[in-house]
Amino acid sequence: MGAAPNSLTSVCVFCGSSDAADPAYLRAAADLGRSLAEAKLRLVYGGGGVGLMGACAVAAHEAGGDVLGIIPHFLQGKERALDMVKTEVVATMHERKQRFFEESDGFVILPGGIGTLEEIVELLSWRRLDLHHLPVVFYNPDNFWAPLFALFQHTVDAKLTPPAFMGAWTVVDRVEDIVPALFAGPKAGADKLLTSIV
Ligand code: AMP
Repeated sequence: MGAAPNSLTSVCVFCGSSDAADPAYLRAAADLGRSLAEAKLRLVYGGGGVGLMGACAVAAHEAGGDVLGIIPHFLQGKERALDMVKTEVVATMHERKQRFFEESDGFVILPGGIGTLEEIVELLSWRRLDLHHLPVVFYNPDNFWAPLFALFQHTVDAKLTPPAFMGAWTVVDRVEDIVPALFAGPKAGADKLLTSIV
């Protein structure tokens, strides 16, 4: 299990790699990078210079924050790994996600595509297995993540997922609420064991 919320030092951000995303989302990613730097929280992320991930990392770095990028070697060119930040090159996508998990005490999710979805599902499925109780904060502008939450609820309604699973993350609508939500830690009751109950 990871560190307690009050010892939060290092935050992994999952977000889209597309430069064609809504400019408001790209601005929000940069705002988050700056607020992590101001809070002295290290940013752990996918290592690329593109899309929301690049916007977040460049802003964190330029604001004096500590940044660790973790990128598989075959994506170094495609995701334009940032030279300006410390970058760890790994062999596989699986290793990248394992390293995210080892290096982070909290997770933030910004709008993203299929890669972000894959990362979210693994993180929350590991929570479902009680492999961690780390704070997970979704930034949800324009209710971006509502269809995903509805799908999770659908699996609860079908008695395939325990109801307590729906308390395993926090949702915020404003970027400035992300860091306070991380420090607040998981919601009350979110420490419930989920492995056995459906
Ligand atoms: P996307 O949301 O599709 O723009 O992808 C966001 C990030 O997730 C990019 O850095 C992708 O390389 C990464 N990603 C995509 N698929 C995976 C995967 N299976 N495991 C780990 N990272 C992934």
